Amino acid sequence: MDIHEYQAKELLSGFGVPVPKGGVAYSAEQAVYRTTEIGGSRWVVKAQIHSGARGKAGGVRLCATDADVRQAAKDLLGKVLVTRQTGPEGLPVHRVLVEQALPIERELYVGLVLDRKHERIVVVAHPHGGMEIEEIAQREPAAILREVVEPAVGMRSFQARELAFGLGLGTQQVNEAMAAVLGAYRAFRDLDATMVEFNPLVVVEDGHVFALDVKMSFDDNAMFRRPNVAELRDYAQEDPREADAAEHGLNYVALDGDIGCIINGAGLAMATMDMIQHSGGEPANFLDIGGGASPDRVAAAFRLVLSDRNVKAILVNVFAGINRCDWVAEGVVQAIREVRVPVPLVVRLAGTNVDEGRRILQQSGLPILTAATLSEAAERVVAARNAGAAA
Ligand code: GDP
Ligand code: MN
Repeated sequence: MDIHEYQAKELLSGFGVPVPKGGVAYSAEQAVYRTTEIGGSRWVVKAQIHSGARGKAGGVRLCATDADVRQAAKDLLGKVLVTRQTGPEGLPVHRVLVEQALPIERELYVGLVLDRKHERIVVVAHPHGGMEIEEIAQREPAAILREVVEPAVGMRSFQARELAFGLGLGTQQVNEAMAAVLGAYRAFRDLDATMVEFNPLVVVEDGHVFALDVKMSFDDNAMFRRPNVAELRDYAQEDPREADAAEHGLNYVALDGDIGCIINGAGLAMATMDMIQHSGGEPANFLDIGGGASPDRVAAAFRLVLSDRNVKAILVNVFAGINRCDWVAEGVVQAIREVRVPVPLVVRLAGTNVDEGRRILQQSGLPILTAATLSEAAERVVAARNAGAAA
């Protein structure tokens, strides 16, 4: 789960990370009011979306007057911002962050990630911030600094100090940079994060250090015990289909192909997607409807898969272990009567009460293609898709 920059800054500031003075605004009026709270004479208005690279997309505006702030907020709020990271559909801007503008002297990179191979939190730093870490890794891999944290003892001050000196910081700055890195580590561990990134961490003209831009992601599986983080979730920033799926207890991931998949079990779903590809097709989605697929849930699955306009054929593949094929078949028939399915449909059932399930499908009078094995099902759905594309 991702959160907004302003939310990450609020959380991190509670862990001692130095962040610029500022606050969120939902309207141009609120944005202007923030400038009076912040004081000073120059401000930045930043679009809050779950994406980086906003600067290059016009989502970070430097302002010298109240009128500039009002205009920047007006321009950004309600717009869809397309960045290099969002894909062509972009993300909607419903909030902006208004901050004091800082006279930046240096931009650095600091990121904490969970390194799954080493099973450790690793801190990565680089003396040139502002670029994406992938770009840094490509251009100047030798200058990347790394500290691996031993989980039993946590991050030690000397590790933070080594990073700060490695970044070429002076004595006063080292202490502030250490506060930023150690605070980020404690927040990472205490809040079940999977990533904390300062890009950039900046040194300003008077020598102070600030986390100018912050990104934070969290472990979905730990959110049950972090209600104060879980409540920061912003559904407007997520694929509406994936959010809709989560609401129905379905596990859905949108993909680029055109063969819709409705399957019970994550493993079977993966195997089915492989078989579709093996037969020359491309899956439009991953969808696990789970063990006890009620007719309601099957109908929700059909609606979800069909909300993707690219879908040219659908494959339902259910192995009934806990479930019963006759019950699933009834669900499919009921779902098709409820939801208009304008594309060819292949259903493969296996497991408990399979004969009864097939009989229900046949007697429904609906144009359902059936298959006995997974490979046959994959071939049939690809053939049906190709026949539709040819016609
Ligand atoms: P991103 O493009 O989404 O990563 O947004 P950032 O918050 O990182 O801002 C992009 C760039 O805008 C930074 O790398 C800075 O160069 C510039 N910027 C942002 N805030 C300030 C500020 O307060 N003062 C100055 N001078 N530049 C800023
Ligand atoms: Mn940035």
